[in-house]
Amino acid sequence: MAVKEILVSEVGPRDGLQSIKAIMPTEYKKNWISAMAKAGIAEIEVGSFVPASVFPQLADTAQIVRYAKTIKGLQVAALVPNLKGAIAAINAGVDKLSIPFSVSETHSLRNLKRNHQQVIDEVRQISRYISQLPKAQRPHFEASLSTAFGCTIEGTIAESAVLASAEKLIEAGAAEVGLSDTTGYGNPQQVKRLVEQIKACVGNEKLTSVHLHNTRGLGLANALAAIEAGIETIDSSMAGIGGCPFAPGASGNIVTEDLVFMLQSMGIQTGIDLPQLLEVRHILRAAFPSEPLYGFTPDAGIPKGFVAP
Ligand code: ZN
Repeated sequence: MAVKEILVSEVGPRDGLQSIKAIMPTEYKKNWISAMAKAGIAEIEVGSFVPASVFPQLADTAQIVRYAKTIKGLQVAALVPNLKGAIAAINAGVDKLSIPFSVSETHSLRNLKRNHQQVIDEVRQISRYISQLPKAQRPHFEASLSTAFGCTIEGTIAESAVLASAEKLIEAGAAEVGLSDTTGYGNPQQVKRLVEQIKACVGNEKLTSVHLHNTRGLGLANALAAIEAGIETIDSSMAGIGGCPFAPGASGNIVTEDLVFMLQSMGIQTGIDLPQLLEVRHILRAAFPSEPLYGFTPDAGIPKGFVAP
């Protein structure tokens, strides 16, 4: 495997905070995001443009995007549920936006209150909206294939359904699809197979990222399988916070600190200063004194003699 570099995309401020009841104050979020960027995290999904009535934790997303855009070199991403959210995200200045398309239609109805055709229509409208913007203002537009490895409501998801969804989303104008194990059902073989099949189906450059949950402890194994199949960007969250309120039983994302340790110990560059990143956990701990924070590397420490590539 000759992978030299992987982009670690931090989703804690979105996926993480949406699943913690307590609300992190705006100033605290800014500190956290800026500390992660200082430690070398180059892409952060800072929030979601969803109604504040659904996720009061993310009500300040527009403000957070504007702040994050002042951090030099940081790629600022946000999740949007529809065209309205996409316009708000673009007005706030995001570099990248992604809309979740749940391959499980039941999950889609719970999560976005929209069926497949309705989400495809939103994708088409967002893509049209972006294409009439001046080139410099166009964000990268991704549609993520959620519940691609199984759904806590529907159960097994057919791989053929994932492939058909990927094709439809690209046809509707998404620049790229992302592959999401929303529920933590995936295994490494399945990850490798799906990544290869989707790439073959919509084009190698139209699937470059995966979003994995560590619900059953297979998160890092799945990440490695994805990298071996040609994935370049891995989503993760600091201290493994996260989940999906509409997928009962789904727990945290893969832990950024452990992912960075795995990659660097394999000689893969991330641009992240691991000791500095571990320090940033204090900000999370202070914000959420009683929430569980996950991660083996933070507990065990960096091995003696460890040299980052
Ligand atoms: Zn997630």
